[in-house]
Amino acid sequence: MSLKNKLATTLLSSAVGLAASLGATTTMAAQNYVTIGTGGQTGVYYVVGQSICRLVNRGSKDHNIKCTAPSTGGSVANINAIREGQQDMGMTQSDWQYYAGKGEKHDSFKAKGPFKDLRALFSVHPEPFTVIARADSGVETFADLAGKRVNLNNPGSGTRGTMELIMAEMGWDKGTFKLAAELKAAEQAQALCDNKLDVMLYSVGHPSGAIKEATTSCDSKLIPVTGPAIDKLVNGNDFYAPATIPGGMYRGTDSDTTTFGNAATMVTSANVDNETVYQVVKAVFDNFDRFKRLHPAFNNLKPQDMIKNGLSAPLHDGAVRYYKEKGWM
Ligand code: GLU
Repeated sequence: MSLKNKLATTLLSSAVGLAASLGATTTMAAQNYVTIGTGGQTGVYYVVGQSICRLVNRGSKDHNIKCTAPSTGGSVANINAIREGQQDMGMTQSDWQYYAGKGEKHDSFKAKGPFKDLRALFSVHPEPFTVIARADSGVETFADLAGKRVNLNNPGSGTRGTMELIMAEMGWDKGTFKLAAELKAAEQAQALCDNKLDVMLYSVGHPSGAIKEATTSCDSKLIPVTGPAIDKLVNGNDFYAPATIPGGMYRGTDSDTTTFGNAATMVTSANVDNETVYQVVKAVFDNFDRFKRLHPAFNNLKPQDMIKNGLSAPLHDGAVRYYKEKGWM
């Protein structure tokens, strides 16, 4: 090879090398962001979202995905934000996952019709519907809430939505209560202990920091959520199940509390790309022991149950790819 040719080859190969490395740099620079909507900062959704993002971000140098999990208004707000493209993923109760798919039961869902692109990823912990009353409120049963100062929670939260479904079954409306407050979940323990409320409600995984706060800062206790209206909801809907909150978990409540609950689930939209969804799901299940240690509510989770229980929307294709690789489906 003549020197001239050698030079040309070298130049060419370094040009190719340069192009390849430029190409690589361009791909590397295409940072993908994924946002997971959670709930109030004192809830378990926030822990789920933060934990998942930590696991995703540990692998950022390999997959270039950067994950954030902001605090949000909760279940219904998350689904609406996903639908509007403002969030990629989010936590939601199994009842609101179902109703979003149908376009039912919540004004915001009815207005938009069935959310056909809603996709499920997996379920997480059970969320018993929890009622906490001040010890001096005179509340002993769920029916006693009538005439009391009750925090219905912020519109957009799953707790508020489910309470409204119960109220409809009971024939109640806001006028049933002496006060129908709309505080966020993170604000209600303090309001209860400041004697601004008789009752706070929280559809949440246990043990819950917010309920610990409400039961240790002042005298309060868990109230059973039972009766014909609850039986009707549980018997008529697969996404609800009877639930028990173990006695002794919270100060002031030594015996088991009977209630009903749903499953916390993670959802997304068919518009979110397969690779991003695959990487998020992989981050959770490849590091499952680590994930489980991040909150006691995750103690009993088993991957094979999580990919079917409480899910009514179709699984996202990116999640299916991972579950098939694992032989789970
Ligand atoms: N289930 C609650 C809701 O949808 C949130 C619970 C939590 O933040 O852990 O509003």
